Amino acid sequence: MLKPAKLEKVLIANRGEIALRILRACKEMGIKTVAVYSTADKDLMHLGLADESVCIGPAPANLSYLHIPAIIAAAEVTGATAIHPGYGFLAENADFAEQVEKSGFAFIGPKADTIRLMGDKVSAKDAMKRAGVPTVPGSDGPLPEDEETALRIGREVGYPVIIKAAGGGGGRGMREVHREEDLIEAAKQTRAEAAAWFSNPMVYLEKFLTDPRHVEVQVLSDGQGHAIHLGDRDCSLQRRHQKVLEEAPAPGIDETARQEVLARCVKACIDIGYRGAGTFEFLYENGRFYFIEMNTRVQVEHPVSEMVTGIDILKEMLSIAAGNPLSFTQDDVVIRGHALECRINAEDPKTFIPSPGMVKHFHAPGGNGVRVDSHLYSGYKVPPNYDSLIGKLITWGATRDEAMARMRNALDEIVVDGIKTNIPLHRNLTRDAGFCEGGVNIHYLEHKLANE
Ligand code: ADP
Repeated sequence: MLKPAKLEKVLIANRGEIALRILRACKEMGIKTVAVYSTADKDLMHLGLADESVCIGPAPANLSYLHIPAIIAAAEVTGATAIHPGYGFLAENADFAEQVEKSGFAFIGPKADTIRLMGDKVSAKDAMKRAGVPTVPGSDGPLPEDEETALRIGREVGYPVIIKAAGGGGGRGMREVHREEDLIEAAKQTRAEAAAWFSNPMVYLEKFLTDPRHVEVQVLSDGQGHAIHLGDRDCSLQRRHQKVLEEAPAPGIDETARQEVLARCVKACIDIGYRGAGTFEFLYENGRFYFIEMNTRVQVEHPVSEMVTGIDILKEMLSIAAGNPLSFTQDDVVIRGHALECRINAEDPKTFIPSPGMVKHFHAPGGNGVRVDSHLYSGYKVPPNYDSLIGKLITWGATRDEAMARMRNALDEIVVDGIKTNIPLHRNLTRDAGFCEGGVNIHYLEHKLANE
């Protein structure tokens, strides 16, 4: 890979495990790093490994990790040349991407216009439809306020349906409707919520799929006419729309449908001039894929795709941002074996209540095919102010069974003392007959938790 002159010094606008992951990729490529942190995060592991570190504000995220002027100022005073947003925080904020570029820094991600297009679910769905990506049947664009037209659309799509906010995210701003007589009221309520939460009252209507799986496609695109996919991932094990355990490839997918959707995603990247790493999220039911949204950033679960392809997604993102074309073609991408990822959260494994505090002792598991992406160390204090993700345990195996056996071993070996974690839940899940068989749907975990 070329040494990117535009990326002489990268400011990492994030915290925790992803900040460390970005730092490792930069160091491998000989790129200097600037870490930024809030006063609650002065003990983060990557601060000591970065070339420079700058405090950008107090603990509340809106005063630090979400505070655009503080981040731009930190880039200016340190002479950084580029900014990596990681995931969460400002990663999908088009205004941030725009300000970063206007201030003369490279934004390690797509162009602001692309983020804006994909951030509005109605325009995203429309763009995907035009590019030939299969979407969930529903209203063509926003659901009109006119009651007669709305009822007609509902009837044509067929019940149950789901009303979703165009500006929605994080599993909020959605409402299922099972009977025609409830449609108008549900649309009104969702519009009011959407206006309050996302400052955008626009809603749209979709067929509600009853037992889908969540299958997503990882892409890399250089914005210079070259795009490739890194296969798919299954993230169906979710609680409250939050992913818990992911894997690649998705087990038991119809191969013709898979190849078709992968090719469509690649074509869509070229059609919209996509730049960087991205993920097309789909619901998969009865052998068919239905696009729901695109994430224009690196995702928490990217390591499973790295493990089965051998491609370093973070390094590729950096290289693309430096203006290099993709360093390989689709023919170079070979899916080998199977990978699993358990998200380790600082939370009670039964009540899911966050459990911040001092990690008295941390022992990372090891062995063939085991990867730990975590900023934990013995004596580290998990602050109460942010997301409860404290690390990711990833295993690879020549087969799914081998990856699963290695994950069970790794989960038996890992020690996180002093705080509660969801490790017992993962030990249980990797021994669950239904999950081990493969191909469970998005309701499986919540049903299992309700019945135990
Ligand atoms: P968000 O951006 O809030 O995550 P998504 O559009 O990705 O919103 O949807 C989040 C989740 O809501 C999906 O993973 C799925 O569980 C559920 N969902 C969304 N659309 C549908 C649909 N048409 N039918 C059934 N479930 C849906």
